[in-house]
Amino acid sequence: MSNNNHKTAIEEKSLDPENWDDFAANAHQMLDLALAHMKSCRDRPVWKPVPEKVKEELQEPLPMDAQGARKTSDDITNLVLPYGTGNTHPKFFGWVHGSGTPSGIIAEMMAAALNANLGGRDHAAIYVERQVIQWCREMFEFPDSSSGLVVSGTSMASLIALKTARDKALGVAVRNTGIGASGARLTAYASEQAHACISKTFDILGLGQNALRSIPVDASYKMDVDALRSAIKQDIADGNQPFCIIGTAGSVNTGSIDDLESLSEIAKEHGLWLHVDGAFGALGWLCDELRPKLKGLNQAHSIAFDFHKWMHVNYDAGFVLVRDGKAHQQSFSSRPDYLAAEERGLAGGNPWFCEYGLELSRGFRALKVWWQFKEQGLTRIAEKISDNCQQAKYLTSLIERNSKFELMAPVALNIVCFRFIAAGFEASELDKLNKEIVIRLQEQGLAAPSTTLLQGKLAIRVNITNHRTRMQDCDELISECNDLGTQLIVENKKIAID
Ligand SMILES: *Cc1c(COP(=O)(O)O)cnc(C)c1O
Repeated sequence: MSNNNHKTAIEEKSLDPENWDDFAANAHQMLDLALAHMKSCRDRPVWKPVPEKVKEELQEPLPMDAQGARKTSDDITNLVLPYGTGNTHPKFFGWVHGSGTPSGIIAEMMAAALNANLGGRDHAAIYVERQVIQWCREMFEFPDSSSGLVVSGTSMASLIALKTARDKALGVAVRNTGIGASGARLTAYASEQAHACISKTFDILGLGQNALRSIPVDASYKMDVDALRSAIKQDIADGNQPFCIIGTAGSVNTGSIDDLESLSEIAKEHGLWLHVDGAFGALGWLCDELRPKLKGLNQAHSIAFDFHKWMHVNYDAGFVLVRDGKAHQQSFSSRPDYLAAEERGLAGGNPWFCEYGLELSRGFRALKVWWQFKEQGLTRIAEKISDNCQQAKYLTSLIERNSKFELMAPVALNIVCFRFIAAGFEASELDKLNKEIVIRLQEQGLAAPSTTLLQGKLAIRVNITNHRTRMQDCDELISECNDLGTQLIVENKKIAID
């Protein structure tokens, strides 16, 4: 029988390009475009609203027929690339966004070239992530027995850490019995300034958001430690089972840092798990002048933080670090027959990362993180974190010197909350005025701060996690806010007269 007889009539054409030379030419053009886009970020408006026409063009019927790489590339160039959030721009100050680096483009591209799946098995990518984990242990002085995982962000990291804490409190059998079986009513404690991802986690864990006690803050927006003590006492008296304290190192509203040392002591006293949401603030640990504010961070049972914020790794990448690596693994490991561990061969490389989180298939986020550590070095990254805090101080000084502005919260790190004030304006009118200033700054592409509410008042909120920002950008921002505020007063008077 000839080999030919085994051939079937199917056309065994892969999805690879028919003409690799054409494909490569287009790919090189796209890389140049990507680099030019990052290089020129300062020259563009910070943000441009997505035009209606573009939104329409981004809606097309399910593509059954091939449009090809060129057409698809053109669509990215024309419809997507020009309309980003603007967080690569030096005057992007909204929420807490990192600003990315051009190197992220290369790392993402190389990760795609490998098309690695880091759920487990024995291949180089696994050792890259293990190295990142080891570096994170060293950064926060965690023992070798601690564990970690590169995840999408702090929301996922906190979920993993708090699931581990829950299972440790109830016993790992809770994975089978469910949380109702023991009859225990677990309670946990976070400040009222804690990020919303924490209460979401309590929902997901089946404990309910009410099980997370919201502890008031003091004048500097730190958790009120006495109120925490009383809440724990009250819960014990009521027959509840406190199991966890969640400290915030860098709150989203004001950048405040809870007194982690006291939280750690209270946790020890009551045998509770201390989790720290350090999404951006934890990395302040790298800076000599910020480390004292974070005292106690290295005592936590778990830390969640983001590489995509103050380490400027391109989105998305976060990390969970868990002191008790065994408890972490016990909380997530399940290895059915088709994922059995082997001593040798491709199914080696134990333990697998899928035993430490929710996902089985996992991309190679660790590569861009590893790259950032290596290319920039932590000293340089720490310098940029310090720079941002200096810039926040400078911006604060501009506000304090100018009678048209009012500082709305103490500045602990890199977040400055302030507002434009105008004589004769009622509280609600000032809220409207400041909200309008922020919207116009964004719409005119001048700068992109965001807003928040502090004690019921609307604040212009400037967060600087941006390695491209300069002091000059702070000067410009204040002068732009001043111009817009003055202009709005005039408009408002006109409206009042009309
Ligand atoms: C950004 C942030 C989060 C959420 O992190 P993601 O990476 O967006 O999931 C949680 N807590 C704080 C303090 C944050 O700044």
